[in-house]
Amino acid sequence: MQIYLVGGAVRDQLLDYPVYDRDWVVVGATPQQMLAQGFKPVGSEFPVFIHPDSGEEYALARTERKSGKGYTGFQYHASPEVTLEEDLLRRDLTINAMAQAEDGQLIDPYQGRQDLENRLLRHVSPAFSEDPLRVLRVARFAARYAHLGFKVADETLALMCELAATDELHHLTAERVWKELERALAEPSPLVFFDLLQRCDALAVLLPELLPLYTLPREQLEQSVAKSCQLSKQADVRFAVLLSLATEALETEQASALIEPLCERLRSPKAFRELALLCRRWHPSLAGFKQLDDSERLALIQGLDLLRRPQRLPPLLLACQALHPDHPLPACQSLPALLERLSQLNPKQLMAEGFKGKALGQELQARQLQLCSALDD
Ligand code: ATP
Ligand code: MG
Repeated sequence: MQIYLVGGAVRDQLLDYPVYDRDWVVVGATPQQMLAQGFKPVGSEFPVFIHPDSGEEYALARTERKSGKGYTGFQYHASPEVTLEEDLLRRDLTINAMAQAEDGQLIDPYQGRQDLENRLLRHVSPAFSEDPLRVLRVARFAARYAHLGFKVADETLALMCELAATDELHHLTAERVWKELERALAEPSPLVFFDLLQRCDALAVLLPELLPLYTLPREQLEQSVAKSCQLSKQADVRFAVLLSLATEALETEQASALIEPLCERLRSPKAFRELALLCRRWHPSLAGFKQLDDSERLALIQGLDLLRRPQRLPPLLLACQALHPDHPLPACQSLPALLERLSQLNPKQLMAEGFKGKALGQELQARQLQLCSALDD
């Protein structure tokens, strides 16, 4: 059997980009031989094994044939006769279809290296159109490498458009879409991901709630997304910023009524949903914090439940700064100090001063409001 390093590790090594995971392909072996060598099978429909020491994935060379809808509608054919070139042919992009032999030799039947040099994301074969997930993958790779000058080849974009015009995208599961979306959000140029989906009309199918992004002044959109990327590598902050921008024209209630089902449909983690909703609801007040009166400030603090959940504030402030990129946010300076003072108000102390029952509540509120009226600069 021969073993080759394939996929992202070969690509990123040639790009001088950090390599996080390594995928291997095994040619000329049977599953029995792999098991005999101590590899552990992965429970999936095609033969993939885990190396007993490194934990890395080793897949038997395989070809595939479309047999149904969506990402899973494939029939796989793995046998010791399948060649490396045949295995590389089933891959999505030429830059992902290179292999490296154990002696370091590069096997590159589809000119991936040349496309790397030309900064081109280009499909390997017309079979690209068989898997709708590739629309999302290409857009994600574009978001990852845009700063290096990578573009999607015109003929690949044309295939993405064709795919989006069929009903194939509807067959992607929420988990797959979310996984690609979450990873794209964390890439250096997340907006490129959405731009490409928009250009091939996949956004209207997968994330129609985000279409209003493209009616905003482009400069505002670019500036806010760039700022969110500069301030935070966290996908949840960037997600919140995008959803706040996309729902900007709506009333708060309508915006929530759009964000909630979107998160439900995508099965996004609770933390993403919560931050997106809170951000949309409160970012205008946070941005204009100094102009609020004492009761509005207290309402904000109570609405966000910040005395009990102070950990909510930092990501919110980041998202809020990205949404208001032109001026420093007063809330960034004064709100943490105010929270500190509010948290020192102690009902027990008020009780010791003789307040009880309804009067205790009223006095606490009065003192909270008093603290809210005077801010640090
Ligand atoms: P990453 O750095 O994100 O891991 P990667 O290219 O290694 O990038 P993986 O998802 O780990 O991506 O997949 C490994 C390889 O398998 C890819 O480089 C590509 O050759 C192939 N591949 C993965 N998913 C698909 C797909 N849906 N269609 C075609 N080829 C795919
Ligand atoms: Mg990989």
